[in-house]
Amino acid sequence: MKIIMLGAPGAGKGTQAKQIAAKYGIPHISTGDIFRANLKEGTPLGLKAKEYMDKGLLVPDELTLDLIMDRFASDDCKNGYVLDGFPRTIPQAEALTKALEKNNDSIDFAIDVDVPDENIVKRMSGRRACVSCGATYHVVFNPPKTEGKCDNCGAELIQRADDKPETVLNRLSVYHKQTQPLIDYYKGFGKLKTVDGTKEMEEVFREIVSILEK
Ligand code: AMP
Repeated sequence: MKIIMLGAPGAGKGTQAKQIAAKYGIPHISTGDIFRANLKEGTPLGLKAKEYMDKGLLVPDELTLDLIMDRFASDDCKNGYVLDGFPRTIPQAEALTKALEKNNDSIDFAIDVDVPDENIVKRMSGRRACVSCGATYHVVFNPPKTEGKCDNCGAELIQRADDKPETVLNRLSVYHKQTQPLIDYYKGFGKLKTVDGTKEMEEVFREIVSILEK
């Protein structure tokens, strides 16, 4: 099963993607996570990506495409994957369609987790991430057991540079301009499914599962 998660930054697509991956035994591939891992290791790709990420801009397509095509070649992708944060532009979507077509393949579902901008801004300003393992929390909706400390590893929780209010507004505007057109792109292929992302996390997940298992 090949699934693409669409939706604004902070719509909750990462959380849903992780649960889908666990339920169906397929890898969760997040380009944002891959960039952040590269940054942590100080690789040239990570340092280059940081320039864009910190401003809320998209990393250029050439860098992103090389990275993701490499990832698809891994053995664990044989039975499919759930993509979180890729594709994010029409050229990225077209490159993915072409790469799959070479093997007479296509994606199965593009799931749009729909959340209005006002809710996104509220959600993202409360988001916190673990400096060590990357686990994410929310000060109101999903707080850690001990304030400021990660439940998994005890490390410090911080607000990511790209979750700061001014960057969030920029990311939303980038989303509307560059990523939202993908909704029509996948609608055109008859692959688009929309879920209401303002509902409780568990409810959203149930809705997604019912779509995948119909
Ligand atoms: P995310 O964790 O998915 O919100 O991604 C964090 C940041 O990584 C984004 O704001 C972009 O700067 C960059 N990024 C992640 N995925 C992509 C992509 N497919 N294309 C370009 N930039 C990306």
